[in-house]
Amino acid sequence: MVSASANKLASLTALAQRVAVDLSREVLDEMGAFVFATDLQGRYVYANPMVLQLLGKTLAEVLGRTFDDFVRFEHDEDRQAIDRRVLVDGEVVAREERNVIPSSGEVRTYWSVKKPMRDAGGAITGMVGVSYDITEKKRLEDQLREQQALLAVILDNVDALVYMKGEDRRFRYANQRVADVFGVPVDAVVGRLDSQLMPREAADRFWRQDQEILRSGQRGVSEQALTDAQGRTRYYWSVIVPWVQADGSRAVIGLSTDITKLHELQEELQRQARTDGLTGLANRRHFQECAQAEFERSRRYRRSLSLIAIDVDHFKDINDRHGHPAGDRVLQTLTQCIQESLRGNDVFARTGGEEFCILLPETELPAAAELAERLRAHLGLCVALDDLGMKVSASFGATTSATEDGCFDQIFARADRALYAAKAQGRNRVVCLAAAA
Ligand code: GH3
Ligand code: MG
Ligand code: MG
Repeated sequence: MVSASANKLASLTALAQRVAVDLSREVLDEMGAFVFATDLQGRYVYANPMVLQLLGKTLAEVLGRTFDDFVRFEHDEDRQAIDRRVLVDGEVVAREERNVIPSSGEVRTYWSVKKPMRDAGGAITGMVGVSYDITEKKRLEDQLREQQALLAVILDNVDALVYMKGEDRRFRYANQRVADVFGVPVDAVVGRLDSQLMPREAADRFWRQDQEILRSGQRGVSEQALTDAQGRTRYYWSVIVPWVQADGSRAVIGLSTDITKLHELQEELQRQARTDGLTGLANRRHFQECAQAEFERSRRYRRSLSLIAIDVDHFKDINDRHGHPAGDRVLQTLTQCIQESLRGNDVFARTGGEEFCILLPETELPAAAELAERLRAHLGLCVALDDLGMKVSASFGATTSATEDGCFDQIFARADRALYAAKAQGRNRVVCLAAAA
């Protein structure tokens, strides 16, 4: 009885071992790696189909032979030294290996692990080797590394701020230029909230735009202003695009070009378009825009609006006698002289060659007349070109808005009539004209 059950157990154990061997052989054959085992002399005791395919041999041809019997490398000292470390010193060696495929001469890269095999007493009997072909993985890694390096060079040298911000308002990426604007290293930008890096008002403004991009999923383009770490206001032309990250979370990518110089140029051009070059005053066109706006405001709030028209007396004579440049200096001095006496919201403009206008919001006619008289008297004192021994005077026409004025031109025409009257009455004087007159 005992011997019968012992026999059964022995045969079951043998079966289990066979199954285990068959299974592991199948796994080794199919695992997509080179697997082999050698004895102490490096002679194959096992080689899986991938090894056999590499060597172009059958298992029977390979068993009992060494790798060197099939393949000879010119500089193979490394491999031989490693085999010695495994077989003699008992080390497990894992490393990257580059081998030439004997049939094609192609160089391929392997991740190779070599491990000593030991008997029950612990003595080394050979080694097991497993090598994965990582050529393609390496190629992709190299390609990726190269692309990342290229991208880093582009992103840090492109003349734009490039960043990625997540739905949590934290920066996921920032290039060097972004870091420069915030005055911190790149590492101090990534992971931080926008509100930790810029003033709250600006951060909230940008975040509203970012949210709109996240909400709509549509690219947005806009001009943005930001005060940099040095306290300078800089202007950017920003393209913001929606982005879904590898983990499914959403983000925005911003590409902002610094257009501060362009913006300043644009402002300067706009300023020049509004300004008279000789005196720096508002020109006629800008005066008319301001006058229209002030006229509408005076109507809305039922406030008075006065206007003083000024024309230099006998200016032609000044030019004729002293030359055009001297005439120019008179116009500049007159400008300074009048400007000293005006309030901040008065609009002083050069509306013609030697003609000026002053728009006086919230001013009644008596006050306008008083100012005009003060200016006239003051002019006599200050607009004298000492070197030319010349006195300059001007005539003034003042008026104020009335309910019957349908448009600003009516006020303008009345001031002009008052000025004409001042000229007619002998010049260097102020004439006031109310609407009913
Ligand atoms: P009135 O007292 O009647 O105003 O005489 P006026 O000589 O001042 O008037 P008129 O309109 O005959 O002459 C204006 C002169 O202003 C003629 C023109 O050559 C001169 N003028 C216009 N623009 C400029 C300028 O930018 N610079 C100089 N120097 N002269 C100018
Ligand atoms: Mg004139
Ligand atoms: Mg004149």
